Amino acid sequence: MNVWLRYTTKKGKCAYEGCKKAHELILGELQVRCRWYMRIKSGQKWMKEKSYHVDCWVAEARETLDRRVHVETRGRKTIPRTDEDRSERIKILRRRAAVVQRLKHETEMGGGNAPKKIQHLYDMLEQLKIEIMPYGGIPDGW
Ligand SMILES: [Zn+2]
Repeated sequence: MNVWLRYTTKKGKCAYEGCKKAHELILGELQVRCRWYMRIKSGQKWMKEKSYHVDCWVAEARETLDRRVHVETRGRKTIPRTDEDRSERIKILRRRAAVVQRLKHETEMGGGNAPKKIQHLYDMLEQLKIEIMPYGGIPDGW
């Protein structure tokens, strides 16, 4: 939308609903002019214009801004946690990553002791699951 100030050169109506000056724009006074385009599906463009008393335009803009409450919808939701909980949680997740790596290694290498080791590592993962519970629960991708 383009917005500019100009002097009123011909009669017009103030577009602000709450206008206290009977919507009457007075010749020679400043007005705010807004112009924007509306496009319909066929590709046709319509030019739209509105005029305001300067005060009325400010009042309308202020009302619009006050009505608009910003809500962040991007990114993952952060769960409120204390710093201590968070660092404890990260420690457990690091240990888990180490176990997962060893598990991968044992699975690939095989060898006589592998089944026993693999079982042991699975047990460790189960143990870590229990440990992480009080620090925000088990992550989805465990
Ligand atoms: Zn007005």
